[in-house]
Amino acid sequence: MSGHGIHGYIESNRERFISELRQVVQQPSISSQGVGMDECASLIEGMLEKRGFQTRLLSSGGYPAIYAERRGESRKAILCYGHYDVQPPDPLEEWASPPFAAEIRDGKIFGRGVSDHKGSLVSRLHAVDALLAVDGTLPLTVKFILEGEEESGSRTLSEIVRQHRDLLAADFALYAGGAKDENDSPVIRCGQKGMCYVQLTCTGASQDLHSRTAALVPSPVWRLVQALASLKDEQGRVTIPGFYDDVDPVSEQDMEALRTVPFNADRMKLNWGISRFVGGVEDVEALEQYLFTPTCNISGISAGYTGVGMKTVLPCRASAKLDLRLVPSQQPLDIVDKLRSHLEMGGFGDVEVDVLGTFEPARTPLTHPLVRSAVQASRRVYGQEPVVMPLWSGSGPRYLFSNYLGIPMIADPGVGHSDGRHHAPNESLRIDDYIQGIHLMAELLRELGRAS
Ligand SMILES: [Zn+2]
Repeated sequence: MSGHGIHGYIESNRERFISELRQVVQQPSISSQGVGMDECASLIEGMLEKRGFQTRLLSSGGYPAIYAERRGESRKAILCYGHYDVQPPDPLEEWASPPFAAEIRDGKIFGRGVSDHKGSLVSRLHAVDALLAVDGTLPLTVKFILEGEEESGSRTLSEIVRQHRDLLAADFALYAGGAKDENDSPVIRCGQKGMCYVQLTCTGASQDLHSRTAALVPSPVWRLVQALASLKDEQGRVTIPGFYDDVDPVSEQDMEALRTVPFNADRMKLNWGISRFVGGVEDVEALEQYLFTPTCNISGISAGYTGVGMKTVLPCRASAKLDLRLVPSQQPLDIVDKLRSHLEMGGFGDVEVDVLGTFEPARTPLTHPLVRSAVQASRRVYGQEPVVMPLWSGSGPRYLFSNYLGIPMIADPGVGHSDGRHHAPNESLRIDDYIQGIHLMAELLRELGRAS
């Protein structure tokens, strides 16, 4: 009866849900430009209060995170992470409708932030509506932490989490919801890679010089290139001593999960315009390498003259930005130490290393009840087996919840689709996916309530 009740409630409130989501998208909240942030935070706080949540703003100097909590039946609690800020909408001329109009066309809502990540955030509130209307209560305590700086690099989130450890304590956690893949299958992501982002700088003479001085003056550009070349061998393995020491072996269970992921290597190569993956790997081996291998990528190199025609110059400075994506259980600061000592041991002690940002890798085991509940709920709502990814190749602040607070965390299938155009013009969300996402969230909360 109640299953039917939830379904009926969600379907009969479709129009109201869509108009409330549109209202949130119509409120700009561009953290990098400081546009509409307070207004958006108040709008969302008001929506939470209307649903019986106690709310407060948690701030550590930047845009505040909204914290909200409503008690439920079981003693267990779930913490839902999301963000209310969005990327700037530029370039404006490439939008088919104004980015904050939230126009509906072809069964989709178009607007900046609709898919990244206001849709996910508001769908969770609509699932709460359905549960309260049909069951009169929530199956477990629901907490929200909605940050306002995700699109600006989550500058103060770690401080906020550290200051409010007890408030944020929970038994389960959901990351900002994900998206269906290219085959329209729902995806559950159980972890993400970590990252350390560093800048290497070499300096030479006190100023740029005429390149005729190259016979006498050491070049910081060559120095940098040689230091960079020492970081990897020709097979693509990172040569920093100890780099792979803490990499967890890929378990048989992880491999089993990878074998069920629809991974089309040829299509990926075609999309990316390459003929071969690093190391020549194919099929499941390629997927394993994609998710479970740490990387050392050069994001950018800057030095000297790169304009048109000739300019003979001996630059006095060269720098490179590196992102090293890490897998469980590598630690970013330990990797930075290993990078520094590798450079020193190799005679590159003069290369300056600045750490610009770090994220720890994080994952929740596939056997955790949270993963099992999400799989069950997905089967019921989507009528198909979800794709379960043991790890994801991107990085983010998930570790603050799963490592620092110790809460098992997954990214649920959410409300997005693979062509949602995050950060790009004409960002969109399919209305049917949105409604299904509300069903999923309601089912998942019920499932977790039963499991507790
Ligand atoms: Zn984003």
